[in-house]
Amino acid sequence: MNSEVYPWGHHRRFNSYTEYIRKTFNGRIQKVVVDAGFTCPNRDGTKGTGGCTYCDNDAFNPSYCNPKVAIPFQISQGIDFHAVRYRRAERFLVYFQPYSNTYAPLSKLKTLYEEALGYPDVIGLVIGTRPDCMDDEKLDYFRELSEKIHLQIEYGIESCYDGTLQRINRGHDFVTSEKMIRKTQERGIRTGAHMIFGLPGESMEMMLKEADILSTLPVDSIKFHQLQIVKGTMMEKAFLEHPDDFHNFTLDGYIDFIIQFIEQLNPEIVIERFSGEVPPRLLHKTSWGLIRYDEVLRLIEKELENRDTWQGKKFKQA
Ligand code: SF4
Repeated sequence: MNSEVYPWGHHRRFNSYTEYIRKTFNGRIQKVVVDAGFTCPNRDGTKGTGGCTYCDNDAFNPSYCNPKVAIPFQISQGIDFHAVRYRRAERFLVYFQPYSNTYAPLSKLKTLYEEALGYPDVIGLVIGTRPDCMDDEKLDYFRELSEKIHLQIEYGIESCYDGTLQRINRGHDFVTSEKMIRKTQERGIRTGAHMIFGLPGESMEMMLKEADILSTLPVDSIKFHQLQIVKGTMMEKAFLEHPDDFHNFTLDGYIDFIIQFIEQLNPEIVIERFSGEVPPRLLHKTSWGLIRYDEVLRLIEKELENRDTWQGKKFKQA
């Protein structure tokens, strides 16, 4: 076993979200996803109708989520779903995940969040959204809420490059992400970010450079996903037409990339995930197939050990 204790206070070679949760709450906490029936401005015509070219929320949504069902019932079903696979947790975070979960008037948002917080043993919320679906009024409400419960706002950034964001029809630029992350942090609200690697037009060098860019932002935690090309999406069409525009990672290539990336990443940023998991039946044939996240994580940690390296080893303070 590795005897070194890293700046984040444990032996694992990256600043792990699981360990952060364990330390913060002194026990096991389960995240339970709910679908509150939101849409997003990139789908309802406000910014666009087609959505981001890779988007298919059904591919990312757990089977127990159903927006037609009341939030408390979804929470109860989510708890039962996880209890089959893992030891039942005693406390829960409700994760508003699909679509843009701040895209409604504040009065409606409050009703939905408070419904979730009223469920027994729910100790906080994680709210996924786009940076252009947030404003000062909502942030002021979230500041008050975060003084009472555990709250994290998770922004989809996806790429630090405007050229890529345009190409994937994201409907906002990187400056919008940057500004909203800073505004959220200024209010003392825990701030998360979501990134995708392998987007069209991005070279390895560009993706690695994103570690330096993200390291200068006040984000508390981050999730990484490899691009997963879902059947029937605009991204699949783009891939079939111009496969050379994509850096299509193999599993080994992705592990190598992630290790280089986190070596450069600020060690203060907690890493929530290294890769995504979409059911293989929904994916274009070039995917990795059925490899569970636990296995990807095990391989990454083994390779960090083999190379005797860790998150932030090559991080340079700006
Ligand atoms: S912002 Fe999210 S929900 Fe909206 S189109 Fe893009 S990926 Fe889909």
